[in-house]
Amino acid sequence: MSLLSLKSVTKRFGGLTAVNGLSFDLVAGETVGLLGPNGSGKTTALNMISGYLPVSDGSVALGGDTISGLSPDRIAHKGVARTFQLVRALPSLSVGENVLAALAFRRNPLWGRDAEVRIETLLAQVGLAGRARQPADSLTYIDLKRMELARALATEPSLLLLDEWLAGLNPTELRAGIDLITSLRESGMTILLVEHVMDAVRALCSRCIVMNTGTKIADGPTADVLSDPEVVRAYLGV
Ligand code: ADP
Repeated sequence: MSLLSLKSVTKRFGGLTAVNGLSFDLVAGETVGLLGPNGSGKTTALNMISGYLPVSDGSVALGGDTISGLSPDRIAHKGVARTFQLVRALPSLSVGENVLAALAFRRNPLWGRDAEVRIETLLAQVGLAGRARQPADSLTYIDLKRMELARALATEPSLLLLDEWLAGLNPTELRAGIDLITSLRESGMTILLVEHVMDAVRALCSRCIVMNTGTKIADGPTADVLSDPEVVRAYLGV
């Protein structure tokens, strides 16, 4: 059975249809790229899946239950976590406190010693072992991204949505970032990632979905999709 199912999902902003009848399913354990030129509706699609924007039409289901129409926190409690294009840290807090805020937000919140142990495990998982006491505003960009991922993982999601999580990293950081997402994939996490870094898409995604002007134009194995003439045309804007 599908973990995530979008059926004819549409988002209208006034006269603009940002996402137009988008349908696709994700099977548990897949890592899928959501691609397309700027303005094609990718972030709007993630916003509808995570509840930050209501759908204008259509439906989103997780594990067979309809989640469209629920608030972002209800959807998060059902198992959808996401990172944002612009990192949303609490800069005046420590790294550990940032993760604690996410643990406290869970349906079954963790506090005290249980939370401390969990924070250390999560920080180790994302490559920030032993950094819980460091102020968040002293982190480098990649470490902020790692912390954001730890916050997303703190909610124990069944589906992880990554919005250009690898954008802006230098080549060494990119390698480390790809390795980190690979380790999540290998742990069985289901991941939908919006990404422009094609080397990362090739390394991480077995399947890609491509949007153009709000419509899905391709969906299939990564190598096939990336060589599809319609996809190439959409990216080149010709
Ligand atoms: P992508 O993530 O593929 O770059 P977006 O989903 O951000 O594309 O945007 C798709 C279209 O919807 C764009 O034309 C964008 O200007 C428009 N759009 C996105 N969010 C809003 C909003 N909150 N209000 C009005 N228009 C929006």
